[in-house]
Amino acid sequence: MTNRRIRPWRRFAEAVQAVLLLGIPFVRIGGESALRFDIPTLRLHLFGTILWMDEFFIVLIAVFFVTFLVIFITQLFGRIWCGWLCPQTVIIDMTGFLDRAQGKSLAQKTAAYFLTLLVSIIVAVDLIWYFISPYDFLPALMNGTLGTVSGGSWAVLSAVIFLNYAFLRHTWCATVCPYAKLQGALFDDRTMIIGFDIRRKGECMDCRACVRVCPVNIDIRNGLNAACISCAECIDACTERMERKKSESLISYFFGTPGSSGSLIRTNVIIIGSLTLLGLAFLLFLSLSRNPLDVTVLPGREFRARMTAQGEVINAYTLAVENRGQSDLSLSLKALRDGAQLKAVPEKIMIRAGEYTRVSAYVFSPGSAGSFQSGQAELILESDGPYNIRVTRQVSLGVPETP
Ligand code: SF4
Ligand code: SF4
Repeated sequence: MTNRRIRPWRRFAEAVQAVLLLGIPFVRIGGESALRFDIPTLRLHLFGTILWMDEFFIVLIAVFFVTFLVIFITQLFGRIWCGWLCPQTVIIDMTGFLDRAQGKSLAQKTAAYFLTLLVSIIVAVDLIWYFISPYDFLPALMNGTLGTVSGGSWAVLSAVIFLNYAFLRHTWCATVCPYAKLQGALFDDRTMIIGFDIRRKGECMDCRACVRVCPVNIDIRNGLNAACISCAECIDACTERMERKKSESLISYFFGTPGSSGSLIRTNVIIIGSLTLLGLAFLLFLSLSRNPLDVTVLPGREFRARMTAQGEVINAYTLAVENRGQSDLSLSLKALRDGAQLKAVPEKIMIRAGEYTRVSAYVFSPGSAGSFQSGQAELILESDGPYNIRVTRQVSLGVPETP
């Protein structure tokens, strides 16, 4: 007979999640937040990488990957997210004192609501830290220079979160949450559920412990209910009762209906699993092949092709260079025509991490005004030092006007 309790494991998972969500804003990589969307520059700081606004297709692919992953996990493990990881469930569990205070003295109830307000304020500021680094936010708070936008957002968020956790609680899961509705549609007859073992119906003492403990007030003995959040509280409640009869819980996790057999690997799981892997592979490819140097070359409009006193043809360009990486770069500028190197000025361009700069560049080609042929050349920007960054752009070489 096993009488393992689920609740300690859920509490452990909830604690890990809380530490992670509260801790991530304080983690810095290369002097920047590990995960933060910077609103003024519209850049996403993502574990050492900076994604600029026009690179958000990587985020889009990440969203597709996470969506398929969620569908895949739901097909296999049902509402495991709701019961174990959803912040709504986690914080409701952490503010369980509010449920226990109901029916008690006014002072106890007031204290419980006050504590819930404190939790809401902390949750709200943690959310804001994913937009404003706590290393900027906290000093500004201490100095009284937080500003009305940040302070106001914090106040409004705290109020909304407090109303949710103080009054809505599991009603949100049972009635509003769109994810809960979606999950119901993704279930099949082999998805993991929490269910009552109908084969052992005769052993039920009808003590209703499983019903009393249920946060959404359902009787799992009547079968799967869309409102069930898979919190497993009914499993523990029945385990406790059945222990007295030296038997196992009548409620448990089952793949499909209790007693059903068959492979967990099925067509829908294979299809969604393959799409998830494909999304992950594409995401990895995009992330690893991402070039932190963005270069746009425009012809120098105010500087027409001309001859130098040394008898060279000179063409001018404007280089718009963005360093989207985390390190300052020293770049060498080169120009090639038909494999032969041309003189390019400036030879070196320095650009700091996260900076954008415009540089006027000149390419000198041998030739005379009468014999010079227009054509294409390659402008090459190569990083010096440990970074292996190379960007090539095709440019047109213009013919100088004959005097
Ligand atoms: S039926 Fe059981 S698992 Fe579902 S919500 Fe109620 S207590 Fe939680
Ligand atoms: S806790 Fe177990 S024994 Fe009691 S009513 Fe629920 S299923 Fe039956």
